[in-house]
Order: sequence, then structure tokens, then C-alpha cells
Amino acid sequence: MAELQTIVNEIHQALLPRLGEGKVADYIPQLARVDPKKFGIAVIDIHGRVYKAGDCDEPFSIQSVSKVFTLTLALGKHGETTWNRVGREPSGSAFNSIVQLEHENGKPRNPFINAGAIAISDLVMSGHTPREAIGEIVRFVQYLADDETIAIDPDVARSETATGYRNFALANFMKSFGKLDHAVDHVLGVYFHQCALAMSCTQLARAALFLANNGKNPLTGHTVVSSQRARRINALMLTCGHYDGSGDFAYHVGLPGKSGVGGGIMAVAPGRASVAVWSPGLNQVGNSLLGSVALEMLAARTGWSIFGTQ
Ligand code: GLN
Repeated sequence: MAELQTIVNEIHQALLPRLGEGKVADYIPQLARVDPKKFGIAVIDIHGRVYKAGDCDEPFSIQSVSKVFTLTLALGKHGETTWNRVGREPSGSAFNSIVQLEHENGKPRNPFINAGAIAISDLVMSGHTPREAIGEIVRFVQYLADDETIAIDPDVARSETATGYRNFALANFMKSFGKLDHAVDHVLGVYFHQCALAMSCTQLARAALFLANNGKNPLTGHTVVSSQRARRINALMLTCGHYDGSGDFAYHVGLPGKSGVGGGIMAVAPGRASVAVWSPGLNQVGNSLLGSVALEMLAARTGWSIFGTQ
């Protein structure tokens, strides 16, 4: 395998002519006006060496990538009882779909579709006001990335709230089945704020490093979760992290990963490295188009696919 920085540079160079492909999310103005030609990649190996290229230090809206962090928090608070509220199966439907909820009595299929993440936000709130829960999420992400500058973009949070009709529908639907403990507007307040976290590829890769290293952040020495829990979170990212594009992502990339409509993807090569990519143009199921291509190239050149080394 070529030196990792060379591989990262080659991926960046290869994608330069394609920047702008895909469709930037436009449901809120803050996402619609992001330059579609942005591209960043950061890889951090479990020894803490960083390899990066492009706009890798520019913060962007992490959106649904945040669902990995809130799931980790909820599991820390509630352990396996978390699974009484959300399932662990791929949904096969769009990230904001409501259809499946009716068939399963308001229990979302997994923690990474919107309905499931809203149920997880409800669990993170236990014993907290919405403001405290938001503070806990921000502090947790800062702790994971070892970076106190990470913050929520308040304009994004406001816009999410103003336009989040579908998420209100999902939350009200779950509430009608008794599946949320807290008031719908409080739960969604937490959910919209976690989606509005702004982070760079470098910060995201640092925050994911514990998942590549059996639950322990090798940079800080902090044990975040047990090795069993890290493995299980990775399993969920592999099967559910890209909505109804999860099978395709596993086929092409072969790494656990989580996407967001801001164009970010956070991925994990267990035992080797964490990776974050950012390219705002999305494919038809709402995952970063060139971000997925970049990760496919990285997995091919490094042999990091969890399904085989060639
Ligand atoms: N804030 C977005 C929403 O709730 C997040 C969706 C996503 O990133 N897939 O619709």
C-alpha cells in the first residue's frame, strides 16, 4: 500500500474535476447556500497520525452524523433497554419516512433514521431539561474530539425548527403510541440542535477514533465505551448508517459509516483508522455522492474493507 498521505492526495486530485456533482440539500437556506465544490477528507490512524486534504478543517453542518454520538450517549445512560425504544434493523425506506412506524406501533426500525434518532434524543433527555441535554451532547462531542471549540450553529438549529414539519409529524406519531417520554417540542428542540452541530472533517475523524480502537480514544487515553459496545455501534453504522443506501455503501466501501445531509460521512476502519469526508452534493438517497466515491477509493487502495483485504 502506498503511503497514506499519498493516497489521500490522490483521491483529492482525482475528484477535483467532479466537484459539484450531486444535489446540495436545500430544505433550509443555510445548507442551500453551501459551496457545492467544497471537498474535504481526514484520516486518523489509531496511532494518532493525521492524513488530510482539501477543505478538511472547515466546519460544516454534521446533521445526521450526530446520531452516532447521541446513540452512544443513550446507550451509556440506558444500556440495552435502549432497544425497547428503537430497533436494530435496516429500514429500507427514506431517512424521514413515516410508513414503517404505523406497522410497528411507533417503534422506529433503527437509531439512524430520523424517527429513531428522535426516540434516542428523548432517551438522552432523561432527567434533563432540553437545554441541559443539548449541553450534554455538545460537551460529549467536544470530549470525543478533544476540542472545546466545537459548537452548534444557532441559525441552522432555528431553520431546522422552522421547517421541520416531517420531523414534527414523526415525533407526534410516536408520541401517540406512547413512545416518547418528553414533550414533542422539547425532544425536537434537542434533535434539531444536535443536527446543527458544526464540525470539520478533522474534528469528526477525531470524534470517531474511539470506534476504530475498541472503544478507547488513543489520543486522549479515554475509554469511551467497552469494546463490545464499539463493535455493536459499528455494526449498526454498517447496516443502517446510510438509510436505504446502506447495502450499496457496504457493497462499494465495506466500512461502517454514517452520513448526513450536510454532505459529511464519518467512517470507521476497525483496528486501523477513522475517516471523515465532506462533499455537499448528495445522491438520490441523501448521502454525499463524492464522499461515498472518496471512501470507495480509500477502501480499495488501503484494503480496509471489513469484508476482505484485496
Ligand atoms: N436535520 C435533518 C432532518 O432531520 C437530518 C437528516 C439527515 O442528515 N439525513 O431532516
